Amino acid sequence: MDKKLSVVIPAFNEEDMVEAAARTVGGVLRDAGIPYELVFVDDGSKDGTWEAILRAHGADPNVRGVSFSRNFGKDRAVFAGLSKARGECVAVMDCDLQHPPEKLPEMYALWEQGFEVVEGVKRDRGEESGLHRACAGAFYSVISKLAKLDMKRSSDFKLMDRRVVDTLLSLPEEDVFFRGLTAFVGYRRAEVEFDVAQRTAGVSKWSFKSLARYAVSSVTAFSAAPMQLAAVFGVLFGVIAVVTGILYAIVGWDADGWLVFLAVMILLALACVLLCMGIIGYYVGRTFRQSLGRPRFIISRECGE
Ligand code: UDP
Ligand code: MG
Repeated sequence: MDKKLSVVIPAFNEEDMVEAAARTVGGVLRDAGIPYELVFVDDGSKDGTWEAILRAHGADPNVRGVSFSRNFGKDRAVFAGLSKARGECVAVMDCDLQHPPEKLPEMYALWEQGFEVVEGVKRDRGEESGLHRACAGAFYSVISKLAKLDMKRSSDFKLMDRRVVDTLLSLPEEDVFFRGLTAFVGYRRAEVEFDVAQRTAGVSKWSFKSLARYAVSSVTAFSAAPMQLAAVFGVLFGVIAVVTGILYAIVGWDADGWLVFLAVMILLALACVLLCMGIIGYYVGRTFRQSLGRPRFIISRECGE
């Protein structure tokens, strides 16, 4: 008897994509003879996403759905799906079919061979512009270094063994970062390359602001190094102060430009101090939110057995 695959699909304002996704993914898995369930997570959509999930459930009883009381973000939606999934293995993919469902049977076969995390690795970043590609490249090389995890080519398209899912669900952090945490937990891994397909309906939910927030939140989830910037600035300005003092003793106050130099240095040091306070404040904020112990998400509706 083949083992069940759960497919977790986060959906935020995807009323045009849900039924197509359910039909396509279900079709691929039925053709491959893989028992499945599709777990849609409506991440507090403002459009008819939930109604679309109900219709998809009506058309295929293997479709299940949960709905958040408001938008909590994709990573939390993924974790909600993982907590609801019942399969022996669980895949995660986007609702917009940018992650090709045809790859699922190949990923499932690798899982059957004993791999516990089968990662979808992007061969091509689809329709993203050169600037976006460069930013994404820079972001992942910085975060890979800071977090000591290789996340450069990784994506949210993955298939995981039940054991990996249970490990992820046992992690206590409130602010979950799916891509980073799946790298963090380890396990036997395999990779499957895929080309990012074009979106056929709806729009990408990422603005520059939300991407920047995502970048900061992911770095701070894995590394305390940014806080050490304060020490670096301390040494730097300490050296400048000593050198300035020595020069003052030698040259005296008469030389032109001293005052400007001092003023610039003092303002620069002040800017660095404020920057470091902001960084440390960010970490304190994280600790504060974690200490509140609030839930990662709130589920308001469910459908499907
Ligand atoms: N998504 C979500 N919550 C959000 C934003 C996005 O559940 O707050 C879902 C979205 O519906 C899609 C997936 O995450 O299934 C990827 O989003 P999107 O296509 O906007 O991202 P991109 O492909 O542009 O990186
Ligand atoms: Mg997309």
